Amino acid sequence: MSDETPICSAKGCRADAVWVLAWNNPKIHTPERRKTWLACEEHREHLSQFLGVRGFLKDVVLLEEWESSQKP
Ligand SMILES: [Zn+2]
Repeated sequence: MSDETPICSAKGCRADAVWVLAWNNPKIHTPERRKTWLACEEHREHLSQFLGVRGFLKDVVLLEEWESSQKP
C-alpha cells in the first residue's frame, strides 16, 4: 500500500501528486514543525496561495526531491 503513488491533497482531486507544500501554522505548531500537503501540477498554485495568504507556506519542492531529502 505504501508503494502507491501519493495523491494530490486538493479536495476531490485524484491526480498523482508532483509537489510537496511544506507549511507551518505558528499558532499551533512549533517553528521547526512542518506539515505537508501534496499537489498535482494543476493544484500547486491554488494550494500555495491558500497557505501563502495565511502566512503558513514555507517551501514548495518536487515530491521526489522531498522524499530523497527525508531519508537519513
Ligand atoms: Zn490536484
